[in-house]
Amino acid sequence: MRRACVAGWPVAHSLSPALHGWWLKKYRIEGSYDAREATAQQLPALLEQLKQEAYAGCNLTLPHKELVLSLLQSMDEEARRIGAANTLILKDGAWHGLNTDAFGFAENLRRKAPGLAKQNALLLGAGGAARAVAAALLRMGFGRIAVCNRTRAKADALATQFGERVHSLSWEEKDTQLSRADLLVNATSLGMHGQGELALDLAGLPAHAVVADIVYKPLETPLLRQARERGLKCVDGLGMLIWQAVPAFEAWFGVRPEVTAELEQFMLERAL
Ligand code: NAP
Repeated sequence: MRRACVAGWPVAHSLSPALHGWWLKKYRIEGSYDAREATAQQLPALLEQLKQEAYAGCNLTLPHKELVLSLLQSMDEEARRIGAANTLILKDGAWHGLNTDAFGFAENLRRKAPGLAKQNALLLGAGGAARAVAAALLRMGFGRIAVCNRTRAKADALATQFGERVHSLSWEEKDTQLSRADLLVNATSLGMHGQGELALDLAGLPAHAVVADIVYKPLETPLLRQARERGLKCVDGLGMLIWQAVPAFEAWFGVRPEVTAELEQFMLERAL
């Protein structure tokens, strides 16, 4: 029996067991996917335990995605570039790290916003998830990506690392950048339950602009509500979560799983 899990602290809120469980049932695979609680200090011991239990791999959520890199024997180019791994594969007793968040964001955006103009993107945030989004936007062919982050030094580092199409701006400059944005992405934790609200007036966005928020608790963040009320195309964070799981499931269980309307409805009910 193939086994995988998600490790994090806290982890009880994770939607990943429901998602992978749905595919395991659909494809009649004899396997399991559970949630393991582990603090940053406990992660090395947990990875050792998963080895002993012959797991096929695991997902990582907060606070492990960046910390885990020093515990891996190898990683793919995307994980190295982003500086974070959200998916681990155990092969011949060695841990290999992948970052499938960038794929998840790009694939979801491609499907939910076909015809999206790709001249200018405005990216809010410069944490682990924002770096995955930046990698995705570059891969999708965006001409210019402006990154605004509260801590300017992190936006500067992101721009330096990702090359000439990525520009670092101050947090205050986000308002003046709106008028040229084809795509606005919130990759900060603002708007998430228990975090502060993102104070941004979307009146300056062009009518063709798409607004994506990777926060998925709540599914419709105040930012997305404002965008919907303005009649703009909105993309919520649940699709990214679903799509990042596709290559992970395939790597562990040997089947490329489908993202169907039925699955999206199942996940939507759990996310609300
Ligand atoms: P992170 O590394 O901790 O980064 C947090 C980001 O939010 C940083 O840019 C931080 O700015 C900014 N921020 C936090 N509080 C702020 C405030 N009061 N004002 C302005 N900026 C603030 O976290 P992460 O891993 O990148 O995750 C960010 C969000 O993405 C989380 O809500 C997470 O749940 C979500 N996420 C969703 C998916 C998905 O599949 N949909 C996947 C991954 C993450 P500073 O640099 O100044 O601290």
